[in-house]
Amino acid sequence: MLNQTMRKLGEERSVIREIFEYGNLRKAQIGAENVFDFSLGNPSVPAPECVQDEAERLLREMPPQLLHGYTSAAGAPEVREKVAEYIRAAFGVPMSGSLVYMTCGAAASLTITLNALCESGDEFAVITPCFPEYKVFIERAGGAVVYVKTDARFHLDEAELRRAVGNKTKAVILNSPNNPTGAVYGAEEIRMLAALLTQKSNEKGEPIYLIVDEPYRELVYGEDVPYVMKYYDHTVVCYSFSKSLSLAGERIGYIAVNPACKGAEELFSAVCGAGRSLGYVCAPSLFQRVCAACLGKSSDLNMYSENRRLLYESLSDMGYECVLPEGAFYLFMKSPETDAKAFCERAKKYELLLVPSDSFGTEGYVRISYCVETRMIERALPAFQKLIKEYRN
Ligand code: PLP
Repeated sequence: MLNQTMRKLGEERSVIREIFEYGNLRKAQIGAENVFDFSLGNPSVPAPECVQDEAERLLREMPPQLLHGYTSAAGAPEVREKVAEYIRAAFGVPMSGSLVYMTCGAAASLTITLNALCESGDEFAVITPCFPEYKVFIERAGGAVVYVKTDARFHLDEAELRRAVGNKTKAVILNSPNNPTGAVYGAEEIRMLAALLTQKSNEKGEPIYLIVDEPYRELVYGEDVPYVMKYYDHTVVCYSFSKSLSLAGERIGYIAVNPACKGAEELFSAVCGAGRSLGYVCAPSLFQRVCAACLGKSSDLNMYSENRRLLYESLSDMGYECVLPEGAFYLFMKSPETDAKAFCERAKKYELLLVPSDSFGTEGYVRISYCVETRMIERALPAFQKLIKEYRN
């Protein structure tokens, strides 16, 4: 007998992947230029030059047995130290390399952290709308998901948080800039959340952790992204270079445990244990080193910025209700009919591939991923226009 939970997970493809596969089929049938695929969050701008330069240098200069061999399970010590040095310099947190664990991207950062923390009966509060895989990751770690609603602008709602966080809560997961809404939580919100978690931790008699999922940290359009460790001691940062450096396929990121966290060393040991038990040891060696040379850098954001402006202004002018994204590369748009899935089906008639918000834990919206060529958006605008006309008639 197979593990039926795993079989089911493997068979029911994610909605986003489903739409993406449908898009590939349509592209083969009618030509790629006639399909407007806004489904995936695959970065469309090239990695910054430092990536290529450093990769070439390493391949040329570093002894292959060192470059392509195993690193320590938690990552190459000099890479972990460079990450810590960057966090100290950029954010003023006294990070140590001994609290940094190199991972295969944010997915691994999250699953390792969840497994390091989760005990039977634990709940994990997730701010919605959210990345759909959180549920899969939490449940596999043995925890239960508690969804927390946000306000009308998709920012933190204190009353909802108070309702959701209690004695069973092991951690809250916060993703800023947010996928799918593009919301960036400001310093005031983070202060409110930190105060609330401090109070709830005191009531519980042990720390409630804050897991900060930050693959989009550098992708912002003028907003400041507060460094949460400075606001709340029991913070674990789950970082990834997938989006900031356009390296999604290279699978590289890190976990950083706040040195101010009570029992930080024990927590880091649990991170190492979880990495070990999941088989997530020794993240890709070449890209550990490439990323260590590109810390704080990002791909050129000009195209995302132009796409954001073009889509937001054009769709708003047509009469769609959109939320202006503060970061990441997703536009969250209200579905003109209550059933977002039905709207997305109708959009397919015009070869527009959008993702209904149900998969993100919220109803009545769609996610438009704008990490695409600007020309594709220009070509897609008439299709959006025809689509909204259907609702006016
Ligand atoms: N967290 C969020 C919010 C994401 O949007 C994604 C990917 O889209 C991930 C985690 C996973 O990132 P990675 O590709 O680095 O595993």
